[in-house]
Amino acid sequence: MSLAASNPLLRPWNTPYGLPPFEETRAEHFEPAFEAAFTQHLAEIDAIAADPQAPTFENTIAAFDRSGRLLRRIENLFHNLTSSETSPALQAVERRAALRLAAHASAVSMNRALFARIDALHAQRETLALAPEQKRVLERFHFDFVRAGAKFGAAEQKRYAQIMERLAGLTTRFGQNVLADESNFRLVLRGEADAVGLPEFVRAATRQAALDRGIEDGLLVTLARSHIVPFLTFSERRDLREQAWRAWTSRGEHDGEHDNRQVAREILTLRNEQARLHGFASYADYALTDTMAGKQAAVTALLTQVWEPAKARAAEELEALRALALSRGEVAQLEPWDWRYYAEKVRQVRYDLDEATVKPYFPLNRMVEALFDCAQRLFGISFVAQPEIRAYHPDVKVYEVRGADGAPIGVFLHDNFARASKRSGAWMSSFRKQSRNLANPGDQAALPIIVNNNNFAKGAVGEPTLLSFDDASTLFHEFGHGLHGLLSNVTYERVSGTAVLRDFVELPSQIFEHWLAEPEVLKRHARHYQTDAPIPDALIAKLQAARLFNQGYETVRYTASALVDMAAHALTGAEAPDVVEFERAELARIGAPAVVGMNHRLTHFQHLFAGSSYAAGYYVYLWAEVLDADGYDAFKEAGSPFDPVVAQRLREFIYSTGNSIEPSAAYRAFRGRGPTVGPMLKQRGLVGSA
Ligand SMILES: [Zn+2]
Repeated sequence: MSLAASNPLLRPWNTPYGLPPFEETRAEHFEPAFEAAFTQHLAEIDAIAADPQAPTFENTIAAFDRSGRLLRRIENLFHNLTSSETSPALQAVERRAALRLAAHASAVSMNRALFARIDALHAQRETLALAPEQKRVLERFHFDFVRAGAKFGAAEQKRYAQIMERLAGLTTRFGQNVLADESNFRLVLRGEADAVGLPEFVRAATRQAALDRGIEDGLLVTLARSHIVPFLTFSERRDLREQAWRAWTSRGEHDGEHDNRQVAREILTLRNEQARLHGFASYADYALTDTMAGKQAAVTALLTQVWEPAKARAAEELEALRALALSRGEVAQLEPWDWRYYAEKVRQVRYDLDEATVKPYFPLNRMVEALFDCAQRLFGISFVAQPEIRAYHPDVKVYEVRGADGAPIGVFLHDNFARASKRSGAWMSSFRKQSRNLANPGDQAALPIIVNNNNFAKGAVGEPTLLSFDDASTLFHEFGHGLHGLLSNVTYERVSGTAVLRDFVELPSQIFEHWLAEPEVLKRHARHYQTDAPIPDALIAKLQAARLFNQGYETVRYTASALVDMAAHALTGAEAPDVVEFERAELARIGAPAVVGMNHRLTHFQHLFAGSSYAAGYYVYLWAEVLDADGYDAFKEAGSPFDPVVAQRLREFIYSTGNSIEPSAAYRAFRGRGPTVGPMLKQRGLVGSA
């Protein structure tokens, strides 16, 4: 058999919706498929570059946008599987393929004949009578090439390609090291003495995790966030909290084969060299040129605007925790592993609210219905389950997404549960992006295939999965990203969906979290899993009142991480320092309270080092929060969370435009004016009295 016939990745995907051939795909199919797809992509590009016709938008830009589709569909499948359903075999392929993929990307972006055509069109872009989206696509491609070194001389190009390849290997290694530390950790609780304080939902989740790993007589606390955070919140065993906290915060910082200290240091060193080749002093300067913020000063101004008020708020919170601990005759000196524990106690006293009372109203299946209902009321779209379609794991649910007229507009995969083969965190990704850039007039436009991943601890067999309010917010957040992919309505793939500037990308996700907090939505969907009773008004009021609780702690943890990220990428020396030492010095310099800690320390900061998309970019959540808080106020001003006029503008200018419009212009078109910072500060309780 020919390679194409024997390799399911290279045959046409004659599956429902053109989904990948999940059942037939094996780890060993990827490398030969990649090689075949590289060859095809390079042939497509050579054909564009060698076209005897003078460059036009159609024969160069549109054609380039269409090129590499075979590679993209294989690559998307590959990255989704390595994130959500990996295996030792796939990880071995990943380490090798990362280098080949980086080398291929360099070969494409350093094709001088192709760049000459793009550069010529770019120089004439004002006189080509292009539609606005076409002009934007041309500018994006030109920018991509320049960023990838198309204007470098031969020696610089060679060095640049080496750097990119080495970075690809290091960032792959970084993520695998974190996963190894997470899956190697096992805190097994045996007997009541170990489990004291844990509510039933924590016991159920950790009992299930133990059973999944063949432990019959205990509870297993893993380093999944949905285990570790509840454990730190409820366990009465201070010694075990300390043990769990130390394991969680030292991921990537152990001698041996999974040590990320040197990996992160080398990544920082190479990124600085990358930036200097482009004429920037630091990676932060280089990365920020392609953002709404534009410059380090704009980021620092925003972060410092919240840093001091957040520290002051955290200090007040600490006093309350200390007072409570003293009133119980317990420790006076609080450690980082005590914060969540005493915060939960204060929360129960102050707001009469405890997780175990809240969670029965947030069963996962009801919250998924809430997502779909909100999307339906806002945008007129519906989600129809396709239970007969099996994706890459039996837990993944597949939905056809339909527009108001009933026609399919996309496919949505929902992968909600933690498992050992999935990396931690929550994220959206795509198997196929929306576009209408057809090679032949009769071709079918590509419907987006979008996936949401979460890491919720699965309920015990026969029991529903119950979410905390934070978990439900994460569910809504990722679904907001999902809608950004599903509602995309552009012609060219380059500007489709989430391919936006990175300090805009969290706007569609974060604004969607607001609907979960709407009493109207809660009354309709937050129903007790046993009695079906809607969540009581009094409990909603308590949830609302408690929203600002512990925000000093959360804001300090986030902002400390964002400041350290920015500082690490603002380094200008040719050799990066030891990252642990650097982090310690930087935290001391900004006066970070040790008892609070950071969301992510550098040795496991996957946003920065398991890829590059958030390097010098962890600030984007706060940047987007300025936009989401200000943007959601438009619904408040209109008097309804489902106001159809505002919803229509939100869809048209935020969820559907992708990167076809410059983001500040898109926001102004939605809001009628630029954003203001006030609503974000109010949302976080950092102005006035909380
Ligand atoms: Zn997000």
